[in-house]
Amino acid sequence: MSNQLRAVRGMNDLLPADSPLWQYFEATLRGWLKSYGYRELRTPILEHTGLFKRAIGEVTDIVEKEMYTFVDELNGESMTLRPEGTASCVRAVIEHNLLFEGGKRLWYAGPMFRHERPQKGRYRQFHQFGIEALGFAGPDLDIEHLLMTARLWRLLGLADCVRLEINSLGGAESRARHREKLIAYFLTHESELDADAKRRLHSNPLRILDSKNPAMQALVEAAPRLMDELDDTALAHFEAVKRGLEDAGIAYTINPRLVRGLDYYNFTVYEWVTDRLGAQGTVCAGGRYDGLVAQLGGKPAPACGYAMGVERLLALLVEVGVATPADAPDVYLVNVGEAATRFAMQAGEALRDAGLDVVLHGGGGSFKSQMKKADASGARYAMIIGDDEAVAGEVTIKPLRGDGEQQRIALAKAVEFFKLVG
Ligand code: ATP
Ligand code: MG
Repeated sequence: MSNQLRAVRGMNDLLPADSPLWQYFEATLRGWLKSYGYRELRTPILEHTGLFKRAIGEVTDIVEKEMYTFVDELNGESMTLRPEGTASCVRAVIEHNLLFEGGKRLWYAGPMFRHERPQKGRYRQFHQFGIEALGFAGPDLDIEHLLMTARLWRLLGLADCVRLEINSLGGAESRARHREKLIAYFLTHESELDADAKRRLHSNPLRILDSKNPAMQALVEAAPRLMDELDDTALAHFEAVKRGLEDAGIAYTINPRLVRGLDYYNFTVYEWVTDRLGAQGTVCAGGRYDGLVAQLGGKPAPACGYAMGVERLLALLVEVGVATPADAPDVYLVNVGEAATRFAMQAGEALRDAGLDVVLHGGGGSFKSQMKKADASGARYAMIIGDDEAVAGEVTIKPLRGDGEQQRIALAKAVEFFKLVG
C-alpha cells in the first residue's frame, strides 16, 4: 500500500478514544479560568512571518530553525504557522486597542507548529494553552499566575509530580552587563563551544545558557550568573514574587540558568517541570515580558503570562492514572424490524428531550448482534423495540449494568423512568 495517504510526520490525529481525556482537561481549564476572571482570545493560526521574528527574536531556536514558513504564492507574502501564542495575542491586543480601558486578563488555546524532531512529548503540531495579563506592572500578577498554576495541578491531581523553578532576568541594563561578562567568559572557553553556541556568542550569548547539549552543561553551569547583576528594582520584584509564593505555601527552587528560549522575557521567568516524562519534562513555562507590546508597535504596556504544553500534561495525567469520566451513552436503542426502527427514531428523540444521551443502533442486524453492541457501548440501559412493541407504542427497558428488572412499558412511562434514574 505504498500510495496510502498518511498524516504529516509529527502531526497527530486525535482519535475518539483519546477525546474523553482532552475534554476532561478542557472542561477543567474553563472552570478554573473563569474562577480567576480570564477571558478567551482566539487568533488566526497563520500570521505574517515578521510578527514572530520581531516578537520571539531572530537568534532563537524557534525562529532560526523551527518555524513553518512559506511564501503565499498569490501575493508573494511570507507567512508562518504560529509556533507559540504570545506574539499573536499581543498583536491582537494592539490591533484592537484592547488596553484602552486598563489591564486585560486573557487566555488562548490551540495548535502550535514547530519543525522539530518528533519524539515522545515533542511534536510538529502540538497544543498549547496559555494565559496573558497585559497592562499590569507589579509582582502581584506574577504571583497570581503561579497561584493559578498551583491550583490547576491540585484540580488535576498533579500537585505531587510537578515542581516550580524560577529565576529573574532583570531589566535591560542588568542583561547588558551580564552579556559582556558572558561573552568574555565564553571567549576564554571558545574551544569548548558547540556550533550553535559559537554562532550565538556575539548575537545572543544568553541563549547559550539554554543549550540542551550535554557536552556543554558543565561550561554553562559555571557561567557568570545574571542573578548577580540584578539591580534594586529587579531584586525587589523578585523578592516580592518569592514572598508571594511563600505566603501561598508553594515550594520553588531558584534556577539561575533558567533563561527561556524566547527573547521577550524580563524580570520573572519560571517553569513547572516533572521528572515523570523523561527528557521532555517542562509542562508549563512563562514569565514577564514588559517590553514586547512596545516592541510590536503598541503603546508601552507591561505584561506577563505562561504557556502549557497540553500533550505533555495529558501524558502526565495518563502516567498518574487519572480517571476520566466515561463518554458512554445512558441508553442504547435496539431496534429490530422496519416499524421498530421508525418508532425507535421517535423514542430516541423523546429521551433526548428529557436530557439523556442515546445511541440508536444503526444498520439493522439480529437482536442478538444488536444486544452485543449495546453491551459494548458501555450504556447503562438497552431500550429494546421490536415490531410488536412499535405497534403497541411500548418499549422494553433492560438494565445492562448492575441490578434491575427488565420491563415493558409505554414510551411515555419509559421517559418518566429515565428521568428518575438518570
Ligand atoms: P522545550 O525546551 O521543551 O523545547 P520550549 O522552551 O521550546 O520547550 P515553550 O516555547 O516555552 O517551550 O512552550 C511552552 C510549552 O509548550 C513547553 O513547556 C512544552 O510543554 C510545550 N512544547 C513546546 N514545544 C513543544 C513540542 N514541539 N511538542 C509538544 N509540546 C511542546
Ligand atoms: Mg523548544
